[in-house]
Amino acid sequence: MKAVKPSAKPKSVVQSVKPKSVVQSAKPKSVVIAGGAGFIGSHLCDALLADGHKVICVDNFLSGARANVAPLDNHPRFTLIEHDICEPLRLSEPVDEIYNLACAASPPRYQADPVHTMLTSVVGTEGLLELAERHGAKFLQASTSEVYGDPEQHPQREDYLGHVSCTGPRACYDEGKRAAETLCFDFRRAGRVDVRVARIFNTYGPRMRPDDGRIVSNLVVQALTGEPLTIYGSGEQTRSFCYVSDLVRGLRALMAVEPGPDGPVNLGNPGEFTINELAALVIEQTGGVSPIHRAPLPVDDPRRRRPDIERARRLLGWTPSVPLEEGLGETIAWFAQVTGTRRASMKRLARA
Ligand code: UDP
Repeated sequence: MKAVKPSAKPKSVVQSVKPKSVVQSAKPKSVVIAGGAGFIGSHLCDALLADGHKVICVDNFLSGARANVAPLDNHPRFTLIEHDICEPLRLSEPVDEIYNLACAASPPRYQADPVHTMLTSVVGTEGLLELAERHGAKFLQASTSEVYGDPEQHPQREDYLGHVSCTGPRACYDEGKRAAETLCFDFRRAGRVDVRVARIFNTYGPRMRPDDGRIVSNLVVQALTGEPLTIYGSGEQTRSFCYVSDLVRGLRALMAVEPGPDGPVNLGNPGEFTINELAALVIEQTGGVSPIHRAPLPVDDPRRRRPDIERARRLLGWTPSVPLEEGLGETIAWFAQVTGTRRASMKRLARA
């Protein structure tokens, strides 16, 4: 574990989604965010700091990016610790809440080192639960819609037990996250930690890595750079896309609600799109002219996915508010900035 020194030049491009103050709290808290330099984690850091809390960001930079948190380097309530959660973590200061978002989440990234992916979810989560127990901290686990595997129930409700291969290439992530949920609820049943489990559905927005490998980042970067858009399989498989600011608001509401729900809570946007529809929207919004390149469907790729968010609505009063068209516009603008490209439609406007 090592504390990270401020970098010389924070990049301004990482500042793009304005954190909204959504969860008011009387007393500032000390909050650990494991995976805090990642795509979702860094937005959560911003939101908590904006509301006056102290943030201890823990990241091994496997999939997180230093640039995501570089603008926070000199923030008086922000600490960055470079650390892999598979190793024990000891903190001398008080901790009120722990969010565990530490794990590579895109299929190519989590499959690149599958054993480490599984250990991050199992050993890493267990270590952070023990940290929460020592500090009497509340604990939120970032679980995933992947626990439903290739679902036979549609939309997916939290009581659906899933249809998951325990031996396929996605198992390191799916089964790792399922085991992490098991650990959370065993700690809860034993009265050791106040846990909350969010099952996060496909989330997108600024600060996804351009080389992340997931569908939104791939299509947007390809469209902006004039590369062919890669569509795996027929493109008729579906996903439901949640904008990152909605997701962060949901995570915070789940951490805040009392008492903690006695089961997992889906967080996602129920708007469901085929991959072909998403590609068409990306082409329309970028003004790009890229051709489509069809590639084989990856093994165990889920055919459809849509959250039932009734539980989140009822328990948290949470519902996502950013439609795909709007969130995609923000995302495209951000990727255009980081890749140094401009939307064709913007270029046309500039020439006019
Ligand atoms: N996909 C695609 N082209 C890409 C990346 C992904 O067609 O360049 C497909 C992938 O096969 C899946 C869907 O898009 O059906 C969503 O993939 P992603 O990797 O974003 O996340 P998943 O929901 O599968 O974990």
